[in-house]
Amino acid sequence: MKSQLDGINRSTINDIVQNVQNFPISKDEVLELIEKYDTISLGMLAKTIRDECKNDLITYSRKVFINLINLCRDTCSYCTYKKELSDSDLSILTKEQALHIASQGKRLKCTEALIVTGERPEQKYPEYREWLRKNDCSTTIEYVDQISNLILEETGLLPHTNAGTLNYDELSLLKKTNVSLGCMLETSSERLGGKNMPHEYAPSKNPRARTRALENAGKLKIPITTGLLIGIGETLEEIVDSLILIREINQKYANIQEVIMQNHVPKYNTKMGSFMPPTQDLFLLTVSLARIIMPHMNIQVPPNLSPNYYSTYINSGINDWGGISPLTIDFVNPESPWPDIKDVKQATQNAGYNFRGRLAIYPEFLLNKREFVPNKLWNYITPLSDSSGLVKEELS
Ligand code: SF4
Repeated sequence: MKSQLDGINRSTINDIVQNVQNFPISKDEVLELIEKYDTISLGMLAKTIRDECKNDLITYSRKVFINLINLCRDTCSYCTYKKELSDSDLSILTKEQALHIASQGKRLKCTEALIVTGERPEQKYPEYREWLRKNDCSTTIEYVDQISNLILEETGLLPHTNAGTLNYDELSLLKKTNVSLGCMLETSSERLGGKNMPHEYAPSKNPRARTRALENAGKLKIPITTGLLIGIGETLEEIVDSLILIREINQKYANIQEVIMQNHVPKYNTKMGSFMPPTQDLFLLTVSLARIIMPHMNIQVPPNLSPNYYSTYINSGINDWGGISPLTIDFVNPESPWPDIKDVKQATQNAGYNFRGRLAIYPEFLLNKREFVPNKLWNYITPLSDSSGLVKEELS
């Protein structure tokens, strides 16, 4: 019979909190906690750890989503982001179009330009290769570099790109124009790349390829966002393995700026359309485990994927809401509109926390890990940030 931490004395909770802060919790210890306590109890533990290890702040990033190229070489069974050349919602944005979106975002006080592409579409589509050639590029990443530079110079919005599994040279190129990059691990389970599994036709989602990208970003001192996609067929033990893998990469390179815990929302027009989404109980458990395994890390849940549950995520130990756009939709989850920033602020304050805007690069890198920021980028970061590394209050 599982018990609630309420039922045991406070000093036991405090002991666990002290322990996980000082000694990384092992997989066996995590599994023992899961065995022993229910989700509400582990949420209470995670919240206590968050309150101890982070300040009373919960952040978000005001962004525009630049859906640059939504062609993709790979096929994941749950994805609706990827389009074909004949699709009416194919997106191959010109420089002018991308810049227009960023400029509109600037007027709405956004500070982040989230630039997203599919995985190496040039390897699959000759027509797109030709389009790139006409734009003086041979790869998508070269084009992303051009767009990032343009947005930075013309609008001052800080680029953060998620373009899949980048190699060392590609990461190195984008480091010059992006204050941080994104590469979701999704899962460390190789099993999910097997026959009839969601990543069967997505070699870029192989956990070894993703780990290499995260480690190369570490070698290059690039702040990187990663995270898990919960509910695509992985086991709870595999989720624990994935979280521990992320912790280990960060222990080695100190470059993981945030861990996104994203719940899979099945889309009817995909192979996994009738797949059961993770239960709220399971999802909250995984969010709590992320905090218990990584006490000092930034843990984020996107607020648009489970609206009306804000307080439960706060009570499970998150300290960030991720990017929220007042202008563009979430092109990866177009059926899930962004909430009004005012509502997220209200829910955060009602829970007793401060709500502040952050940049696409977290404050700790601006304050304590300045070697992660190329000299040129300081020219764009400094006018936006205050002495705590957050967005200046007068700009938000
Ligand atoms: S790699 Fe990304 S864009 Fe491509 S199919 Fe998978 S989830 Fe979709």
